Amino acid sequence: MEPMDPSPLRHFVVAKATISSIFDQLLEFVKDGSVFVDGQRQCVFVCVCLFLRFSVCGHVVVLVAVATEAWRSSDLGPVAVEEQSLEMQSCFTKLSTIRDVLLRRHMKVAFFGRTSNGKSTVINAMLRDRVLPSGIGHTTNCFLRVEGTDGDEAYVTTETSTERRSVSTVNQLAHALHMDPTLDSGSLVRVFWPKSRCTLLRDDLVLMDSPGTDVTLELDSWIDKFCLDADVFVLVGNAESTLMNTEKLFFHKVSERISKPNIFILHNRWDASVTEPDFIEEVRKQHLDRCISFLAEELRVLGLDEAAGRIFFVSAKEVLSSRTQRAQGMPETGGTGGALAEGFQERLMEFQRFERTFEEFISQSAVKTKFEQHTVRAWQITESIKAVMDAININSADKKICCLEEREEQRDRLDFVRGQINRLSNNVKERIRTLSDEVAAKVASALSDQIRSLPVLVDEFRADFNPTPETLQLYKAKLLQHVDERLVGSLAHRCSVLRDIRDAQRHMIDSVRPLLSPSVQDQLAAPSASFDLTFDLGVASLCSDFRENVDFQFSLGWTALVTRFIGAANARRALSGPAPPPQDTSSFKDDLVVSIATGLVSVTSRVSMTVLVIGGVVWRSVGWRVVALSLSLYGVLYLYERLTWTDASRERALKQQFVEYASPRLRAVIPVTSSACSQQVFKELSSTFTRLCQRVDLSDAELEGNIRQLSFRIQRLENIQRRSKAFRNRATELETQLEAFSVQYLQGN
Ligand code: GDP
Repeated sequence: MEPMDPSPLRHFVVAKATISSIFDQLLEFVKDGSVFVDGQRQCVFVCVCLFLRFSVCGHVVVLVAVATEAWRSSDLGPVAVEEQSLEMQSCFTKLSTIRDVLLRRHMKVAFFGRTSNGKSTVINAMLRDRVLPSGIGHTTNCFLRVEGTDGDEAYVTTETSTERRSVSTVNQLAHALHMDPTLDSGSLVRVFWPKSRCTLLRDDLVLMDSPGTDVTLELDSWIDKFCLDADVFVLVGNAESTLMNTEKLFFHKVSERISKPNIFILHNRWDASVTEPDFIEEVRKQHLDRCISFLAEELRVLGLDEAAGRIFFVSAKEVLSSRTQRAQGMPETGGTGGALAEGFQERLMEFQRFERTFEEFISQSAVKTKFEQHTVRAWQITESIKAVMDAININSADKKICCLEEREEQRDRLDFVRGQINRLSNNVKERIRTLSDEVAAKVASALSDQIRSLPVLVDEFRADFNPTPETLQLYKAKLLQHVDERLVGSLAHRCSVLRDIRDAQRHMIDSVRPLLSPSVQDQLAAPSASFDLTFDLGVASLCSDFRENVDFQFSLGWTALVTRFIGAANARRALSGPAPPPQDTSSFKDDLVVSIATGLVSVTSRVSMTVLVIGGVVWRSVGWRVVALSLSLYGVLYLYERLTWTDASRERALKQQFVEYASPRLRAVIPVTSSACSQQVFKELSSTFTRLCQRVDLSDAELEGNIRQLSFRIQRLENIQRRSKAFRNRATELETQLEAFSVQYLQGN
């Protein structure tokens, strides 16, 4: 007899599980999304790695300087803003609140009617157990809310105390209610009944028994407190009397607060009407008409055609009794008397019809009222998450474009800088070479001019002179110093290259400047303030082996003549004879004597034969007078020269000898000196250019660092884009689930 189909209440249970699972996924999703959004909020501070390359002796030394600084031009700020982060957090909070509410969601049916109409009996019949006390009238004015508990033991809690009072039998409950002085009128007592003992409770149904509508004047506060979340109201009337005004008033008040409350009307105790079988149909029709009129016309909660489907004529007592007997394995009688009362089966079926209709109705209705709003909220939340993800996606796409453009720019600049520096390098090297060559030529020409005017330079020299070796030594040293100083001085004067150097340096700096990044540009040095060529002629060492000859030499003497005809060097060789170099250090007179003696000796010893031969020839041809005159003239000339051979003549001779000695030597060092100067210029300019190239390298490294950072950032932004898109897709997927839920559970009737 009893229906074996799965309870329609399962519809609610399954829907609840489905929507809870969607909310679980949503929560997980929003949690991940929130972490993602928070991650995009940090301002990007980048480490700019500067790779400075210095070429040293062919080795490339790479110095890595890591500088942490805000990304200047490419610091486009975070991709997500605080509002988005807060939005995500708020979504999470809302979702978890809704989920908690969802988990507590159940179907609730509230029973109303006058005392002793059999509300408790109806509830018991539905629960198939004597859960609530009946038959004794409502001993208290409190509401009894029956709900399931996972435990095996039934218990009650009250508003004033959450202490669980065990009530294993209905009598204990009645006693507990009766004895509790704290239970005020209209207070709530929660009865927790093991789900294992009742399928209705297992299926998330909560049943609320109320004190009789006739016993209270506090209808308004009741409704506010207990009825606003009820999915279905069951008005339990009795077959003997029609709906009372108090009952009608209650539902009027309910429908003022809740739009279109779902109301079922049970005419209980229908078994009692069998005593008057003649009028039964008439009475039934009367009740039916009044109730239809009440529901459809007074309350306007249903259409006329629908209202009849909500009105049932039952006997809760019979149903309860039959069900408890059946549970105990006893034959169903529907009454206490043992025999089946007349019309029992119809009433039982009517009750079952009521149950089925009620269950179908409450589960459908509860799914809508309890989950529809939440589904809409969830939908709104996914929409706002999608909006956040879209914003992040667009933002990161924009930033990526900026970064791509900037990277392109930086790459172009790097290429440009590299090309330019190569060109410039050749150009500058050429210029340095030219300038160095010019300097070499200039120095060479100046130096040869100076060498030409060496006699004047030497002539200008003044110092104590006498032929003693010490004085001569000192004299020569000073002469060398004088010559060195004057040569260097006039070279420095004639060969000032500072301006050329500065011009060349300025040109280099000006050419390199545009290739440098602003930060490196600031560190550019100015052209040299001073630059002097260093001339190291080394006159002293060059002329260290200068040997003067300040001995008297008769201009018509043998040596002089030979020298005049065959050159000084040959003469020295030809005449190298016994004449020793003057070794003594005696006075001038001694020298004179010695020279005369030497002269005589030379006349007698070396020349005698020649003189005799020539003399003989001359004698014969010109006669002795002429010879005598010539000899005396020769002698006078000799005497004259001998007497005028003073210190001044010696100094002159020394200076002249020095000029003759030094000029070729100095000429020989012209190439060395000029190339040394050219080297100095080359070195100065090359080092300037090298320094500039280092700056360019620095700037280059900065560009490379920027490019690397931009690539890294682009990658990050792409990643963000990908992830935000994935989040968006996930949101859409969850929306699809919500949509499916909506189609399955919320739409239609
Ligand atoms: P409540 O005060 O509305 O909860 O009513 P109760 O459930 O306590 O029932 C009051 C009395 O009516 C009890 O004695 C029940 O046994 C009795 N009663 C309830 N339902 C029926 C019914 O269908 N037929 C008959 N004959 N008596 C019933």
